[in-house]
Amino acid sequence: MKKIQMVDLGGQYQGIKDQVNSSISNILESSAFINGPEVQAFQKELEDYLEVKHVIPCANGTDALQICMMGLGLKPGDEVITADFTFAATVEVIALLQLTPVLVDVEPDTFNISIDAIEKAITPKTKAIVPVHLFGQCADMDAIMDLAKKHNLFVIEDNAQGIGAKHRFKDGTKKMSGTIGHVASTSFFPSKNLGCYGDGGAIFTNDDDLAHTIRGIVNHGMYKRYHHDVVGVNSRLDSIQAAVLRAKLPKLNSYNAKRRNAARKYSEAFKNQEHIVVPKTVNGCDGICDTCDCHVFHQYTLKITNGKRDALVQHLNNNGVPCGVYYPIPLHSQKAYVDERYIEANFAVTNQLVEEVISLPMHTELDDEQIGYITAMIIEFVNKQ
Ligand SMILES: *Cc1c(COP(=O)(O)O)cnc(C)c1O
Repeated sequence: MKKIQMVDLGGQYQGIKDQVNSSISNILESSAFINGPEVQAFQKELEDYLEVKHVIPCANGTDALQICMMGLGLKPGDEVITADFTFAATVEVIALLQLTPVLVDVEPDTFNISIDAIEKAITPKTKAIVPVHLFGQCADMDAIMDLAKKHNLFVIEDNAQGIGAKHRFKDGTKKMSGTIGHVASTSFFPSKNLGCYGDGGAIFTNDDDLAHTIRGIVNHGMYKRYHHDVVGVNSRLDSIQAAVLRAKLPKLNSYNAKRRNAARKYSEAFKNQEHIVVPKTVNGCDGICDTCDCHVFHQYTLKITNGKRDALVQHLNNNGVPCGVYYPIPLHSQKAYVDERYIEANFAVTNQLVEEVISLPMHTELDDEQIGYITAMIIEFVNKQ
């Protein structure tokens, strides 16, 4: 059996090696390292793929989120609601801009932000909601857009884990994740579903004015060379990363289908297991089917409900099966983000998830033998007395 890896970027590289190597060597010959033709071409290709009017590439997914908030003109003291159960980058940029983060609980089955919890957290100071499409499945965007409209709030989608997923609305229509709110951010960190070979990120929006504002912000607040109209940042995608992304973008749907296929096999194997809860796909699809594009499985995350999660992690690590706990500590309990206004009872779901979740190896190169080995080992261990 091939050695099991949490992500297998080396195996994936073999399939795009010729294109990546020749594009990179062309860049080295041309010296167009920043904002070269590869970046422009990638931007256009991603706009076409997402069916969105504007893609603004930038340096990473954390910058992308920060720039979204700067572009919307959010001001210190404005409250921004986001999920307690996500990667820290989401709350970090809110705090960094001296906005007020308001963390709220998530749903126990999808791990995505709870609509009830958002509604309860809205105050006259609330200016924006940041849903995170956690582990590759969209948050409940119907309800979030309704709430935003009712309360006149911005919606910033953190799409770092969801690129390529579609959200199916109640009326049956579908839209790509990251094209539903007012603006969205994504990350091209190597292990993301569309990852480059370094750092990278992008912002998406259909709003022409906001896109214009953001194009200046990413470039030192310049709209005309050496005229700095607003305080900006320096956040660029370099040409070499754009070349890698151009090689991968045409394969993104097939990469995501491979992830879904692995997820389906995992879930089949864990069916009827008393102590193992498989991830739930919602959004128009009852099971995990091949044709459904509602979940792109950035992570495949189980809940182990009999208290053996930590022991299982140890057991897998001792037996050549990498795994991860995303995320082990609720954001509201992190030193940097504690706030006396938080009431522990309001985070009951996140507090339980951090004890139960385990993410299994998930990438485009997993084979049946590996999946069989992983699932058998987990089932045996979890049921052992
Ligand atoms: C990866 C990630 C980010 C940050 O992306 P970087 O490119 O690493 O800065 C933000 N939010 C979520 C949910 C992520 O998973």
